[in-house]
Amino acid sequence: ATPAATMVGTTIGAQNGVLFKGGDILERAKDVDTVVFDKTGTLTEGEMELTDVVVFDGDGAPAADGGDPATDGGQLEAQHRRSEDDVLALAAAAESGSEHPLAQAIVDGARARGLDIDEPDAFENVPGHGIQATVGGREILVGNRKLLRDAGIDPEPAAETMERLENEGKTAMLVAIDGDLRGVVADADTVKESAKTAVAALHERAVDVMMLTGDNERTARAVAEQVGIDPENVRAEVLPEDKSDAVEAIQDEGRTAMMVGDGVNDAPALAVAHVGTAIGSGTDVAIEAADVTLMRDDPVDVVKAIRISDATLQKIK
Ligand code: ADP
Ligand code: MG
Repeated sequence: ATPAATMVGTTIGAQNGVLFKGGDILERAKDVDTVVFDKTGTLTEGEMELTDVVVFDGDGAPAADGGDPATDGGQLEAQHRRSEDDVLALAAAAESGSEHPLAQAIVDGARARGLDIDEPDAFENVPGHGIQATVGGREILVGNRKLLRDAGIDPEPAAETMERLENEGKTAMLVAIDGDLRGVVADADTVKESAKTAVAALHERAVDVMMLTGDNERTARAVAEQVGIDPENVRAEVLPEDKSDAVEAIQDEGRTAMMVGDGVNDAPALAVAHVGTAIGSGTDVAIEAADVTLMRDDPVDVVKAIRISDATLQKIK
């Protein structure tokens, strides 16, 4: 493109909240045939909320719910609530050392229930899997199946509960206390209103749409379904350090890919993508690594970026 055309395209982009980092990128965007979306914070609001707390007996079987207040005077129900609160309070204390949105939602949820949240004595992040902490001398694990398995704890007794919550698109996390599986907590996120419109508009242009996430397969597929992404195009349980490899693998198939993400985790993937696109409210690291920034945080602007590139280059041909 001529410098003049590039300037026009860049300006039109800026007026629409689409910031191109340079003329090369403005030219390349029109060739994108595959858009790879990060899930959390990109297709979803990224504002998690605690939705479920399920407690298990010592042997890992789900504890009986409630009881019948008519016959037991509400005692069982109160007991059940107490054990829920105990598990939640410990999970929240353990998570209070983490910055992860999943962790914040657990802490906020526990506070909303009026629980006291202790400071952990020790805390360790296990990236892509969860956290490990010591709270009041007790060893707490909160995270996915692999986190527990690696600690020698069988997550199987929670399988049904986990699957039920994940099929609802929630992120379900196992809670182990002193080596025993004791509960499941779940966080839910809201899909951005325009995510579905964005995916439909990309399909309309014959652009393939994929999803890349560290979250588990079942949750990822439930969210994919809500926004119209083919379940076969979901790459789930991708570790933070493997996200860029996943994008490279997609590009090695001969595709011209745009990666869209918001998190620190996404930065390497944004850097290797033919077009890296950051959500404006995302982390600085992601914005720095990207070629395009969407100031309105709206997935529909991905389509706009491609259209502006297309229009700019057609005019000058
Ligand atoms: P995402 O790409 O969705 O941000 P991550 O790679 O950060 O996901 O984490 C992947 C999975 O690891 C999460 O879905 C969750 O099961 C588990 N996990 C990560 N961090 C935490 C945490 N602080 N507490 C509990 N579970 C966590
Ligand atoms: Mg994200």
